[in-house]
Amino acid sequence: MGYTFEPVAIVRSCFQEKFAIPRQPSLAPAAGGVLELLPPYDQPESTAGLEQVSHLWLLFVFHAAPSGPAHLRVRPPRLGGNQKIGVFASRSTHRPNPIGQSVVRLDAMEPGRLHISGIDLLDGTPVLDIKPYVPYADQVVDAHNALASTAPELIPVAWKPAAWQAARSHAQRLQQPVIELIEQCLAQDPKPAYQQPSAEREYGVRFWDLNVRWHYPQPGCIQVLTVEQQSPGPFPGS
Ligand code: SAH
Repeated sequence: MGYTFEPVAIVRSCFQEKFAIPRQPSLAPAAGGVLELLPPYDQPESTAGLEQVSHLWLLFVFHAAPSGPAHLRVRPPRLGGNQKIGVFASRSTHRPNPIGQSVVRLDAMEPGRLHISGIDLLDGTPVLDIKPYVPYADQVVDAHNALASTAPELIPVAWKPAAWQAARSHAQRLQQPVIELIEQCLAQDPKPAYQQPSAEREYGVRFWDLNVRWHYPQPGCIQVLTVEQQSPGPFPGS
């Protein structure tokens, strides 16, 4: 028995690649994006009432997850990448059906577009459904999960002064909290858990149209080296 679903919206996100996206929503409140609703849901009727709602549940497709049969057991990064647990005990993107779910903040609405933040979604993510968060039902006060009992530990993020200046001017150009976005995402320490950083090794990621480069002057501590606008692509609008 199969089912066919069509997306109701596409995510426009600050995250242009999977690397350095937080592992769950809310970990980087400065991570913003827009849900671009697709016809016929781009009409104001479909979102009427949402102005009374602060957060949304998004059900979406992990469209950039590697395809192939899902395994019964997976190695979640949270457990250092070397311990296996059942696929249904994990929020891994490699699942029997590549469906993700995230609670995000609804910041503003305009016709056909919902501005959201605190996202953990890649740019271009197809959204299958949007539902209002219902605190009395969705907030489980006595819930526990010993596999992930607290948010990941954060590491300090320092800046080369020129990188900070550049981030500040790009924040104005983009009208986005670029400094907070970089600090909140890098503080999660995106490098693979098994890698021992050396001060010489540089890492990079793209947020919005910015290339952000950093290194580890000492283990457990990040310094942002450069924040540069990606050179425009060969085609107009790319
Ligand atoms: N909150 C979701 C996602 C958890 S996994 C859930 O629990 O279902 C979070 C990771 O999903 C991020 O680190 C990011 O790398 C990855 N991700 C986000 N959007 C994706 C997409 N469209 N395709 C593949 N992976 C994606």
